[in-house]
Amino acid sequence: MKKHAFTTVLLLTALYSTTVFAAIRPAAPGSALSFSQLLNQLPANHPLDLNLSEADTNISAVEALRSDDRYWITVSAADKYERTALLETGMDIVEINASRTSGFARKEAMDLILEKGFSIESRVTIYEYAKKHLKDFPPTDAAYHNYTETTGLLRELAANNPDIASLFSAGKTLEGRDIWCLRLNSTEKGEKTSSKPGAFFVGSHHAREHLTNEVALGLAVYLLEHKNDAEISKYLETLDIYIIPMLNADGAEYDIAAGKYRWHRKNTRVNPDKSMGVDLNRNYDSLWCRGGASHSPSAETYCGPSAFSEPETVAVKKFVETRKNLKTLMSYHSYSSLLLYPWAGKDTPLENENDRKVFAEMARTMADFTGYTPQQSSDLYVATGDTTDWAYATSGIFAFTTELEGNSFYPGAALISRAVAGNVKAAVYMLSVTEDPYKLLR
Ligand SMILES: [Zn+2]
Repeated sequence: MKKHAFTTVLLLTALYSTTVFAAIRPAAPGSALSFSQLLNQLPANHPLDLNLSEADTNISAVEALRSDDRYWITVSAADKYERTALLETGMDIVEINASRTSGFARKEAMDLILEKGFSIESRVTIYEYAKKHLKDFPPTDAAYHNYTETTGLLRELAANNPDIASLFSAGKTLEGRDIWCLRLNSTEKGEKTSSKPGAFFVGSHHAREHLTNEVALGLAVYLLEHKNDAEISKYLETLDIYIIPMLNADGAEYDIAAGKYRWHRKNTRVNPDKSMGVDLNRNYDSLWCRGGASHSPSAETYCGPSAFSEPETVAVKKFVETRKNLKTLMSYHSYSSLLLYPWAGKDTPLENENDRKVFAEMARTMADFTGYTPQQSSDLYVATGDTTDWAYATSGIFAFTTELEGNSFYPGAALISRAVAGNVKAAVYMLSVTEDPYKLLR
């Protein structure tokens, strides 16, 4: 973005923040939170707004990456098998374009990539990459909800809709944060189990994928705001709906701490070699670490010392295992505009023909609502130990991964409303088949 245009954005942002502060922060107890308010006047009391200008934060955000030893690299990779091999070096694949694959890698991963015979077409330090990519939007992204704001909004939604909503902690993160789960059920509240068919939405397995938290929160707000609409009220009456917007709360907070985007993916586990983090979406017990993941702790795709070694994935495990009524699951990630279904960890189609048909039909329909591309996960690359393979293999849940739209992990606030709108439609469709996904075969 050109300099004068950027200045205009800063001025508008400053004006906008002031208006939003006055208008909706904090919401009075009992006041209805409107869906359009969420989209158009997003809560903006990010602490950074108070003492740092956008420009100051932008500089500090980039400078913070000066000592980060990762590179943004582009490698020639012909197909999913080559991309799987790249993941196994510890490369963090972010973008795939025909014969080119780009993402983050440390020196050890780059050495392995070259050892395996790939050619690295280009590489820049993450510092150089950030200088280029953090310029185009207000780096504080005040419209996004941090952990405190997410907690506040969920509490407000539960408090304002006691007839239908309740909030409980599904467990604690490594650093002791509550993993909040909003439940929508007309008869059962909190952790009490229900025999109604269940749907489960989860965001933020990966720290820097902040848009996933916004989509999950947007869905919660939408369903509650439309709780009296004929269609939504039917789902709220007959289904058991769970939303965990921010699973990897430690990582998400670490990623934005002090206004510094760190492009952090994993949780905040300090590994024995002093590197940070386990990749939560490689830590599930489904062909754990057998492909598309790395045993090396510093790798971005580190699967952890064992399956379910991390409290965040254990929380999901316990949550799913104690709720036999769950039929559907959506795990939000960003970014690639994809609607993915199992297998992720196997290079073969689902063995069960009926299940494969249901998965494909649901993915196709949800992709229609969002404009994303539906496909089997492993068509991208093989990645073992992810949420959806585990949920399907162990519990028979129709479990999907959505890779949201955008062209960056930090796409700015403007993208939120569009991403929420499309994905809410897809989610409502998922609810419409949750009672019996097999009805799609009839
Ligand atoms: Zn992700």
